[in-house]
Amino acid sequence: MSAPRRTGRSGAPARADPRVRRLLAWFDRHRRPLPWRLRPTPYRVWVAEVMLQQTRVAQADPFYRRFVRRFPTVHALARAPAPEVLKAWEGAGYYARARHLHRAAREVVARRAGALPRTARELARLPGVGPYIAAAVASLAFGEPVVALEANGLRVAARWTAERGDVRRAPVRRRLARWLADRLPPDRAGPFNEALMELGETVCRPRAPRCGACPVAAWCRARRTLPDPSVLPYRRPPRDKPRVEASVVALRRGGRWLVVRRPETGLLGGLWEFPGGKIEPGERPEAAARRELREETGLAAGPLEPRGVVPHEYSHFSVRLHLFAGRAGPGRPRTAGRPYRWASPAEVRRLPLPRATVKALDRLVRWRSRGTASPGSGSRRGRTAA
Ligand code: SF4
Repeated sequence: MSAPRRTGRSGAPARADPRVRRLLAWFDRHRRPLPWRLRPTPYRVWVAEVMLQQTRVAQADPFYRRFVRRFPTVHALARAPAPEVLKAWEGAGYYARARHLHRAAREVVARRAGALPRTARELARLPGVGPYIAAAVASLAFGEPVVALEANGLRVAARWTAERGDVRRAPVRRRLARWLADRLPPDRAGPFNEALMELGETVCRPRAPRCGACPVAAWCRARRTLPDPSVLPYRRPPRDKPRVEASVVALRRGGRWLVVRRPETGLLGGLWEFPGGKIEPGERPEAAARRELREETGLAAGPLEPRGVVPHEYSHFSVRLHLFAGRAGPGRPRTAGRPYRWASPAEVRRLPLPRATVKALDRLVRWRSRGTASPGSGSRRGRTAA
């Protein structure tokens, strides 16, 4: 989020500050036993910080456990083929993070024999490591005295100082980072950064902050000067998310479905999905399904049967997938170099899939298991519990 800030404006050590002492004492008592805090290693701290970008702690927890069980060390991650890494990341979203993590792990193993860089400056040279992750790993794993400022810490700092500027603006974030850097204890930089995040996550919540339980309440300017501290931090109101209508086809041949891999780069790169795409203005969903199928695979389908609409929210847009099922006409798919497979439901599940495709698959499998598959839907081989 913000560039790492070193201790004190001129690099001089911060003075002991009673507010900081209270904050650290509170953190020592109240820190939650999150999985990445148990047996922390630089690698585990790094994976957790990557996963926690854009993902809340409660959501990240099971994905983190699964990921580090599958790849317990940077060497294990570096050795793994890319599809396995994407599969292990499935559900955590923002797959570019997994691809970057994988590339960075390979770089760390190839160039540094598996030892992570110890400073924020060096860490920031790895693929996908921005200023926040670099500062978080450097301070939490190696004790470097730099401020790691993410959304929770930013909220606490904005309220603590009654900051009225828009925290999305870089000068405002820099101002808050400087303020924190002047208070950062050089010998406890990691706990200081974690304490701010913990306070923001559990006490100084976006809505309804629990000021009565807050260790820094006595010094908080928002609490002292505002009837409701939760009006800070100030942000311009978000614009409405655009909504995308799309059609996808579960095209069947001999009890198997056709799935195509997305290009490596771009949104959901390298993941597998059913053929389909955006519905053009004025186009009917079924017509869009046939057109997309033809354009993407060169194949035609017999009658297309609707299987409902699958909604899904991405960070910057929402999508409604109009799902159809049909039998493939003759011929081989022509997918312009994109890999494709005819796969049973169980095989599809083993591939790395976007979350919306997982939802579509669940719906198709439920439909089949209810015994309402279309006439002549073929073998029930490979039926999988939804
Ligand atoms: S006193 Fe309230 S608003 Fe201020 S930092 Fe604590 S929880 Fe947040």
